[in-house]
Amino acid sequence: MRIRINNTRGNFHMQELLIEKIRTDGGVQSRERISDEYVAELAELIKAGKKLPPIDVYSDGTDVWAADGFHRIHARLKANKRTIRCNVHKGSIKDAIWASVAANQEHGLRRTNADKRHAVEMALNINSGLSDEAIAQHVGVSRNFVFGLRKQAPQPVIGLQVERTGVDGRTRKIPPPPMGGERTEQTQRQEDTPRKIPPPPAVSAPEHRNPPPPPFDSAQGRPAPRPAVSVDDMKKPIPDHLIPLFDRGSEVQSLLSQISNIKGVLKRAQESDDPLFGDCHFQAAEAALQTAYTEIKATKPFAVCPWCHGTLSENCRGCGQRGVIGEFRWNQSVPPELKK
Ligand SMILES: [Zn+2]
Repeated sequence: MRIRINNTRGNFHMQELLIEKIRTDGGVQSRERISDEYVAELAELIKAGKKLPPIDVYSDGTDVWAADGFHRIHARLKANKRTIRCNVHKGSIKDAIWASVAANQEHGLRRTNADKRHAVEMALNINSGLSDEAIAQHVGVSRNFVFGLRKQAPQPVIGLQVERTGVDGRTRKIPPPPMGGERTEQTQRQEDTPRKIPPPPAVSAPEHRNPPPPPFDSAQGRPAPRPAVSVDDMKKPIPDHLIPLFDRGSEVQSLLSQISNIKGVLKRAQESDDPLFGDCHFQAAEAALQTAYTEIKATKPFAVCPWCHGTLSENCRGCGQRGVIGEFRWNQSVPPELKK
């Protein structure tokens, strides 16, 4: 619904839209979660008469997809406003997702590491053909950050994806990663350096090889620690033996994204009376998906167990000898004095 046009310039126009017409589902949101505190803060500003900047939305002619400004949308609703000023771009849900993963690099609530991970995973999902460097520049993270997440993502069938597009817009072939191994520095460089592109090696039958062992610190007699200190979502250092578990939080995140996608598909099917899903009890399906989402999300490593400090003590009932706890448990069960 068009209420009024304030301004038209470039490839978008500004328009005040009914919030209920703006879609925030379909996996367009790159934040890992909405901060209630920040929403409350913004709502206070709105109630005090402060004008917040317009949000960015993409309109494909049928749906309007939010790409940036999810906190402002929640804040407007909390302040009992039904409309919000939008920069309306022409584009699809994919355009909205692509814009969303680049949002909040310099403005808005600072992105957490979880937000950045989520954004990179979304970016890899819709543009897996881009190089690590191109994804990193777009999302505003380091190339190593992208490299680490791409490695954990389900690998495409070897031989299928041997081309990546670099920041210069040129597409070049890259050798597929060795089975179970890591890409070498050289492989990475080839993706982003325009010169000297070797032909892709012939694809042979994959042989099973074990992943290379971690670097060994002979003086200590155990795997060498990472150079940089890793911290959990509460900025507490993660003990070395728990880092692999934290790293695998992206597996949980990926499952959550898949559930969100299914929810989006069903919602659209319901709204469009898609005959394919004619016999689906949408409410029941949605409730079941929500339950699965909540349960799976609760397991995602969020903080080092504040009771046993990740020592995997047999007596620790806080973490059940995982050494880590999820966000839900952190919020619900950890007393304030332990949170410090
Ligand atoms: Zn514990």
